[in-house]
Amino acid sequence: MVPQPATRKTGKKIAIVGSGPAGMAAAQQLARVGHAVTVFEKNDRIGGLVRYGIPDFKLDKRLIDWRMAQMKAEGVKFVTGTMVTGAALPAGVVNDAKKTLGAEQLKQDFDAVVLAGGAENPRDLPILGRELEGVHFALEFLIPQNKEVSGGRRNPISVHGKHVVVIGGGDTGSDCVGTSNRHGAASITQIELLPRPPEQENGALVWPYWPLRLRTSSSHEEGCERDWAIGTKEFLGHQEGPDRGRLKAIKAVRLEWTDGKMKEVPGSEFEIAADVALLAMGFVSPVGGVLDAFGVDKDARGNARADTEGEQAYSTNVPGVFAAGDMRRGQSLVVWAIREGRQCARTVDRFLMGSSVLPR
Ligand SMILES: Cc1cc2nc3c(=O)[nH]c(=O)nc-3n(C[C@H](O)[C@H](O)[C@H](O)COP(=O)(O)OP(=O)(O)OC[C@H]3O[C@@H](n4cnc5c(N)ncnc54)[C@H](O)[C@@H]3O)c2cc1C
Repeated sequence: MVPQPATRKTGKKIAIVGSGPAGMAAAQQLARVGHAVTVFEKNDRIGGLVRYGIPDFKLDKRLIDWRMAQMKAEGVKFVTGTMVTGAALPAGVVNDAKKTLGAEQLKQDFDAVVLAGGAENPRDLPILGRELEGVHFALEFLIPQNKEVSGGRRNPISVHGKHVVVIGGGDTGSDCVGTSNRHGAASITQIELLPRPPEQENGALVWPYWPLRLRTSSSHEEGCERDWAIGTKEFLGHQEGPDRGRLKAIKAVRLEWTDGKMKEVPGSEFEIAADVALLAMGFVSPVGGVLDAFGVDKDARGNARADTEGEQAYSTNVPGVFAAGDMRRGQSLVVWAIREGRQCARTVDRFLMGSSVLPR
């Protein structure tokens, strides 16, 4: 990890909003061609969901520190605890910001802005009993755990000796399973709305169908009950005693899927004992009103509207403002975020200099 500082400075200043893999990748490319890059991050540490979200047992956080040190040596400035725009954030989104910066100020102080703030707004489950104590968004559990592991205060949510139900079968759900096992949960059940995928991919399947395959992570192997085609009907609470207002069980129902449509199986309602329910059903959109503050057009899902092909790839409708990563494509994967950040850097460089040696 040897720093590769630019031999020639361009005098151009670029602001990157968000320090996840998309923002980091864009920042590094742009610094290496001589631009002065500042990365603004609302949280107290750099790295986005790779730092706070993905558990330490899945990714060694020193990798981010090494990359950061290399980037600092290449001239990148990191500003943490600073939120761009400062609009209110939805429940379940961490914000360590002590300072806010307006969109107009950024546009005035920098020659280009890259919006790489991710898509942190978690999908909620607004059913009866949602307000009960013990029902949490996955990241309300996972992020304090990252902070505790890195020497911060204790995770306020402990599932030691508790019955945990994880709602949602993806990566975030799997990370809740692994973390709950490390806490010493009494039982862990992960339920998913969709039917159980086959053990083997259907290789003959062609676009637009995605060849789904059952994925079993090391967290699942450590211990977890998994069940598919389950709908969650209600969170049931203790009615009396000291636990009144706390989650006791989940009322669920079996689903039948035909041609992509689901139907409840009559008479199949059942209860799962639960002291803690973790909602891991994906993320719906970027947060914090950043896109509105910059006047950036959004797609139907509320992400920044920008293409990935052609000379204008990653350009938004606002000249000098670009978007990459989950903030543009919706919650996805680290490799996509890195690819988008790197490709976006090329367009930004071309916008500022007229041409670019950065790879497409
Ligand atoms: C629990 C969990 C597990 C996952 N596991 C995997 C996995 O195993 N493999 C995989 O490939 N992907 C995984 N993902 C997805 C992956 O982490 C994301 O797709 C990726 O991090 C997106 O990168 P990004 O840079 O676009 O955004 P993010 O990583 O979300 O980074 C955005 C950053 O911008 C900051 N920010 C937002 N708004 C502002 C603002 N207004 N001002 C300042 N800062 C702001 C945020 O605080 C955040 O730090 C997982 C996600 C989660 C939640």
